[in-house]
Amino acid sequence: MDGREVTTFRRRLLRWYAQAGRDLPWKGEQDPYRVWLREIMLQQTTVAAVLPYLERFLAQFPTIKALANADEAAVLRQWEGLGYYSRARNLRKAAQKIVTSYGGQLPPAASELEKLPGIGRYTAGAIASFAYDQPAAIVEANTERLYCRLLGFGDDPRTTSGRKTLWEFAARLVPKIQPGQFNQALMDLGATVCTPRQPHCESCPVKLHCQAFQQNRVAEIPQLARKAEITEVVEAAVAIRCEGKWLLRQRGAKERWAGMWDFPRFPLEHPADATVLPVNSLREGVMTQTGHDIVPLLQIAEIRHSVTRYKITLRCFVAELAVGQPPWEQADVTWVEANRFSTYPLSVTGRKLADRLKNGLL
Ligand code: SF4
Repeated sequence: MDGREVTTFRRRLLRWYAQAGRDLPWKGEQDPYRVWLREIMLQQTTVAAVLPYLERFLAQFPTIKALANADEAAVLRQWEGLGYYSRARNLRKAAQKIVTSYGGQLPPAASELEKLPGIGRYTAGAIASFAYDQPAAIVEANTERLYCRLLGFGDDPRTTSGRKTLWEFAARLVPKIQPGQFNQALMDLGATVCTPRQPHCESCPVKLHCQAFQQNRVAEIPQLARKAEITEVVEAAVAIRCEGKWLLRQRGAKERWAGMWDFPRFPLEHPADATVLPVNSLREGVMTQTGHDIVPLLQIAEIRHSVTRYKITLRCFVAELAVGQPPWEQADVTWVEANRFSTYPLSVTGRKLADRLKNGLL
């Protein structure tokens, strides 16, 4: 698109947005902290799922300073169920940096925002344009697809050169006046008109600017990512009781769900026969993770769930400490009464098991 065409494109897009843009709950919202939070929460999560989390999170941490001063466990507890917990840890780290280096205010420049933990190029552009009206470009799932089609870009948009092409295009499109509204209009068009399957080209306000439409190549653009192969695994979660309390361990920095608390959990090597209690594997797994020797008693539940490309069957067991084995605490191991599980951030499946134990469902 040359300069004149870009101007016409912007005008058509904004006219469409004024009449048909999504009625998102945060439409027009410019508070930088709120914009930042919602953009981080929206990664990998739907608008409907984010809303209650956003309000609860803001009620507990109403300012960046409050977030910076919070315990990591308290932040993770508020994030529980949203997944991708590194986002919550990075939010807190970024809040601390904002307090120490930027006087408690998010900086307005995308280049500065990108230096903060957990803020990538898209999020930086979104905060800069939505909160500070900076003409910063954005590329995320909806706009990536839209740009590919507008450009007739049939190569892989995920390669370095593909990304460069799309970011350069986005930078050319974004206007100096009301860039936040313009970026929102692009995202809304991608989400509601230029959809992944069967886009509504006939009613599209920018079809005259769209190479894929003009060349009848809409169905083949953008090039789809190869689907990751699904791997099935079986894991054990072991609830160990002693004197009315249950053992929880904090997951290590390099583990999935780092910083969250959990029952000892590990892959089962010989999962084939679900009717057999894998005594040795359970004892070995718990010993490795906590140093405690146990007597496995029974399996109380089987939970199926997915994490990234893994389809997991989680076998949940109850065990007791071996005779003569005292319960001890260490930095990452503690003993908790069932009615205090709610004070610890747990994974979704950890919470299911905790609720079962709290309700006495053995
Ligand atoms: Fe997307 Fe079709 Fe509009 Fe092109 S014409 S931008 S493919 S909806």
